[in-house]
Amino acid sequence: MATQSKKKLIVHEIESWFSENARAFPWRTDDFPWGRLVSEFMSQQTQIDRVALKWPLILERFPTPKSLAQSNEQNILSLWQGLGYYRRAKFLKKTAEIITEDFAGEVPSDVDDLLKLSGVGKYTAGAISSIAFDKREAIVDANVHRVLCRLWNHAGEWAPSSWTWGKAEQLVSVCSSPKVFNEGLMEFGATVCSKSPKCETCPLQGQCDAFAKNTQSMLPTVKKKTKKKKVFHYAVVLEHQGEFAFEQRGDTGLWSGMWQVPTVDSDVELDVNEISKQLNVRGKLKMLGSFEHMLSHRAISFTVFSCKVGKDSRFNWFSAEALEELPLATAQRKVLAVHCAA
Ligand code: SF4
Repeated sequence: MATQSKKKLIVHEIESWFSENARAFPWRTDDFPWGRLVSEFMSQQTQIDRVALKWPLILERFPTPKSLAQSNEQNILSLWQGLGYYRRAKFLKKTAEIITEDFAGEVPSDVDDLLKLSGVGKYTAGAISSIAFDKREAIVDANVHRVLCRLWNHAGEWAPSSWTWGKAEQLVSVCSSPKVFNEGLMEFGATVCSKSPKCETCPLQGQCDAFAKNTQSMLPTVKKKTKKKKVFHYAVVLEHQGEFAFEQRGDTGLWSGMWQVPTVDSDVELDVNEISKQLNVRGKLKMLGSFEHMLSHRAISFTVFSCKVGKDSRFNWFSAEALEELPLATAQRKVLAVHCAA
């Protein structure tokens, strides 16, 4: 099959497939660049169903870049709970400030301008420019990379590469609508040409080199797994007359800016005396339970303690009802669940 005609066939099939099979997500209901931008920030490494639940809440609270720019960072962190990768919420806040100050409150449409925003790389810039503004820009995420590697039976690269970007650029150059094609290609990778591809019903079967050679299950090449680093977090629920002690994590590192019950982070196992000493707590610590919390790069062993103490001014104190609003990472919600269950 001539290369140019293969590309045109692929593009045509994806555009028609997407026009009939697009899933109904709230950010797809109208052309709303800010909403699209927020959805792109939220979607990175997060299940799309979770994003669909949270997106309306975030947009209701922050309907414009200016509304987020003028808000306290804790408000977006609080709404971000459950989505993980909290750095994205901070990037979104910074991005809202840049849009407000440098782009008169309007999301820019050009890739070069989008790349000036905080936390926006080549993929996100291309996605916003093409999907929100229908500009002829390529995008490659993990789904697109998988589809393209299979269509051309391309092995050797587990992540998007210059080869994949080159192919995506060639395809977008011949499509009718970059908005439809790019979003369609991502959706196709997420739902049809997924990790377990549905080749039997695939409209691209005739154009797929991997299908012809029966190599689709081996593509793209899998990344060698690196061993997660094991670390230990000792979380102590300090209680004083119905109120609980919380502290804010530092500005950098894991869960930066989020709140937690007083917690000792350690690379090695600690005994209860060492934990008391490090937290400078006088009362007797009672162990309530433990759990493993997995992140992409580390396995955290959490041990939860409780202790009744006097009110200590080193910490902020909250009633149980006030905790709903406090930005807590999922691991800290698990700590509170252990405490409630004890
Ligand atoms: S035939 Fe199978 S491997 Fe090829 S594009 Fe379709 S779903 Fe993917």
